[in-house]
Amino acid sequence: MTDEQSTNLHLPLADTSCWEDTTVLSPADYLIVGAGITGINAAISIKAHAPAARVIVLDRGSWGEGASFRNAGFACLGSPTELLADLQDGQDDLVWHLVEMRHRGLQQLIRRVRPGAMELTRCGGTEFFSRDEPARWEQTLDQLSMLDHHLKQITGRKEPHFIPTQSDGGFRNGFGQILIADEARIHPGKMMMRLHEMARSLGVMILGGVAITGWTNTGSGIDVQTSTGHVWHTRRLGLATNGFTRRLMPELEVVPARNQVFLTQPIRGIAWDRCFHAHQGYIYARRVGEQLLIGGARHIDPIGETTDVPGTTPEIETYLLDYLNRHFPVLGGTCFVKRWSGTLGVGSKKIPVIREVGQNIFAAVRLGGMGVAIGTLVGEQLSEMMLNS
Ligand SMILES: Cc1cc2nc3c(=O)[nH]c(=O)nc-3n(C[C@H](O)[C@H](O)[C@H](O)COP(=O)(O)OP(=O)(O)OC[C@H]3O[C@@H](n4cnc5c(N)ncnc54)[C@H](O)[C@@H]3O)c2cc1C
Repeated sequence: MTDEQSTNLHLPLADTSCWEDTTVLSPADYLIVGAGITGINAAISIKAHAPAARVIVLDRGSWGEGASFRNAGFACLGSPTELLADLQDGQDDLVWHLVEMRHRGLQQLIRRVRPGAMELTRCGGTEFFSRDEPARWEQTLDQLSMLDHHLKQITGRKEPHFIPTQSDGGFRNGFGQILIADEARIHPGKMMMRLHEMARSLGVMILGGVAITGWTNTGSGIDVQTSTGHVWHTRRLGLATNGFTRRLMPELEVVPARNQVFLTQPIRGIAWDRCFHAHQGYIYARRVGEQLLIGGARHIDPIGETTDVPGTTPEIETYLLDYLNRHFPVLGGTCFVKRWSGTLGVGSKKIPVIREVGQNIFAAVRLGGMGVAIGTLVGEQLSEMMLNS
């Protein structure tokens, strides 16, 4: 061995094999950050239009750490008080445009994922008004036919969407409720698993445990840096990072909003089946088999819940347990056996950010509390930008 050869033995070696460089790490045509409903739908739509393209989805979580696997699973267009609160901002066209997006998005989701595969149950919904809310009840009733008119125009439905009834519906301390006809619940985990399977079957490579830390535009494309130290080269980059976006692009107006969720132990003979909404959508509940899921209430701690750090707090847990005991037809002593949180992406406007954010870089983020409804559509729009730029 010559001196030169022996020195070469001590040169740093690349930490990847030539086999990895030419497979896992080989350049992408389209690289998407975020394996939630938006990112995976974008990948599926790209493959539908460009089957030969190399499409990679990277996520820092093992299977996605965002809201898509952690939400309540309501397939809904918005409850009456939620829509009225949105209309108060004076941007009526925007509100109805969003409702239309929800309607179209849900239709697209159902075309992509068979209802049975995500346990879609057309259970209807109810907006509940407690005895402390007679004024809110009256104000909502005054506006109900206006809301119904707009919803019918959007959905083409002939029968009313909203049916007020002053019965307590079996809930305690109730003043009235508005039944929501066209609403369903799904199993978000099964929806996401089906979307992941579909993407993989089309040849999309989905890798978990890889956080994107930054990127460099090289002129011929983009080098994407990651927490693992590996760099992927791609022609086009798509950000579907929703509530975590500000860690990558603080200049985009996307604010994280934590949402806490709690699950009771099984309750024998739950008498109601509908999706439950109260207080402008801030409180929601549904059945999960014989268990009851209740969540939200971020309005009681808006500052504390403006975070993308996961976790639950005693303050919100106590509030929701108290709410459940005051209003739900369950015997006392109910306790939570499971708790988790998810991160929403919100902002001063409720509309998502869907646009080019740099040369060959696109974002589809800020889906608020309606990503089950609009995620498929927003993913499709991300794919169109990435394909057609
Ligand atoms: C508790 C809760 C209840 C909800 N209930 C409903 C409901 O009933 N109906 C409804 O329509 N909507 C609901 N939503 C909203 C809905 O879940 C979201 O709008 C939707 O899931 C957003 O999907 P997404 O793919 O855009 O984002 P996400 O699902 O949040 O996915 C973003 C992904 O990006 C990844 N990521 C972020 N940064 C990086 C990085 N630097 N590198 C790599 N990966 C990264 C994250 O790990 C994450 O997996 C709820 C949300 C929550 C939290």
